[in-house]
Amino acid sequence: MVRHNELELITVEEAIKIIDLNSSLNQKTEQRPLLKGEGFVLSEDVISPINMPPFRQSAMDGYAINMHDSNQYSLIGEIQAGDSKNPTLKKGEAVRIFTGAAVPDSANCVVMQEKVIRNKREIEVQNNPLLQANIRPLGEQSKIGEIALKKGTLLNPAAIGFLTTLGITSAKVYKKPSIAVIATGNELVAAGQSLKHGQIYESNSLMLSVSLNKYGYQNNETYNVPDDYNSTLKLLKNTIENKDIVIVSGGISVGDYDYVGKALTELKTKELFYKIKQKPGKPLYFGKNNHTFIFALPGNPAAALSCFYIYVLRHLKRMCGESSYEPKQIEATSNSNYLKKGDRAQFLKAFYQEGKIEILEGQSSSMLHTFAIANALVYLSSDAKEIVKGDLINAILL
Ligand code: AMP
Ligand code: MG
Repeated sequence: MVRHNELELITVEEAIKIIDLNSSLNQKTEQRPLLKGEGFVLSEDVISPINMPPFRQSAMDGYAINMHDSNQYSLIGEIQAGDSKNPTLKKGEAVRIFTGAAVPDSANCVVMQEKVIRNKREIEVQNNPLLQANIRPLGEQSKIGEIALKKGTLLNPAAIGFLTTLGITSAKVYKKPSIAVIATGNELVAAGQSLKHGQIYESNSLMLSVSLNKYGYQNNETYNVPDDYNSTLKLLKNTIENKDIVIVSGGISVGDYDYVGKALTELKTKELFYKIKQKPGKPLYFGKNNHTFIFALPGNPAAALSCFYIYVLRHLKRMCGESSYEPKQIEATSNSNYLKKGDRAQFLKAFYQEGKIEILEGQSSSMLHTFAIANALVYLSSDAKEIVKGDLINAILL
C-alpha cells in the first residue's frame, strides 16, 4: 500500500469518480417474489402478459348506454363488478353498471348516476352524453406483449402494485451483495458488558449494519478482530473469499497497530484510492480483491458514518441497479456562521427544516451525539472558506 503525504491526497470529486468507475452493474441477477422485491431494480424489461384493464371498464357507478338521438333510455339489466355478462344493447337501451364492471361491447358511454333521473325501467339522461365517456379503454395502462416496466426501474410500492395488477408474482432483479462488516480494535467491548479502564463500547459494526439494513442490504454479517496482524489477515482473507463487499472499521490509519492496510497488501488487494482530502474521513480506503470490493473506513464513528453515506452507499446503489444514483441534495439558507480551517473539503453535520439549515455544534469525527440529531450534511469544497448566516448553501439530505 502506498502511503501518501498530504500533497498526494485525492479530492472528494476524484474519489467519487473512482467509486463510479468501480460500481458497474452487478452481473448477478435473481428472480425475486414481488412481496420481497421492494428496493430492488429490474434487470430486464417486464413484458405485460395481459391488457390492463383486461376489458373496457366502467369508471363510474351509473348507466352504460348505446347512444341515440333522445335522452330517454330503456333499462334492460344490471352489471356488477366481477360479472361476466356482456348483454347486447340496441340503440336507446341502457344497463345499470357499477365502478370496475365490464362495459358491454355494444355500449358506447357510461353516464354517472348523478346525471340520470330514474323511472322504473326508464332513465332520462340530464346531460349530453359523450362518446366513450367514463369508460376505461381496454389496455389503457398496459397492452399485452408491450413493455410494462423498463429494465432499470426501481421497485417501489407503486411499481410492485402495478406489476401485481398484471398478474405478475415475481421479477428478475439485480442481486444485492453479501457484505461483511469488520470492527477492528483492542479497546472495543460489546455493549452490555462492563468496561475496564481504557476500553470503549464497540458501536461501528452495529451502526453500519443497521445502516445497511435501512437501505435494503440485509445480507450483512458483523465481525470483530483485535489489533493483531495475523488475526486481521485471516479474517480479511476469509471474508474477501466469501463476501461480495467487505467494510472494515478502524485500523486503516498510520498507527503502529493499524494492520488493515498491511494485511490487504499481503492479500494482493488492488488499491483504488487511499486517503481523501476531506474532513472527516481522511484515511478512507477503497480497493478490490478478485471480485470483492473493500472499504476500510476510519474508526472514528462519525467519520465512518459520513464515509458510509457518501461513498459506500453510492457504490451499493449503483451496483444494484440505480446506475445514476446521486444523494438527495437541497439548497437552504444557512442559520449559522462557520469558518473552515485548513484546505480539506468538509462534510458538516447539520439540521435542515423548512428551507433553513443549521450547522451543528460538535463536528469532531469522534462525535456521534451530533450526528444523532443531524438530518443533513453540508458540503464545503476544499477551496471554500466560510459560511455566513444567510448564505444559500447546498446540503445532502440523510
Ligand atoms: P482507528 O481508526 O482504529 O485509529 O480508530 C479511531 C478512533 O475510533 C479511536 O478512538 C477508536 O477507539 C475509535 N473506534 C474505532 N473503532 C471503533 C468502533 N468499532 N466503535 C467505536 N469506536 C471505534
Ligand atoms: Mg484502531
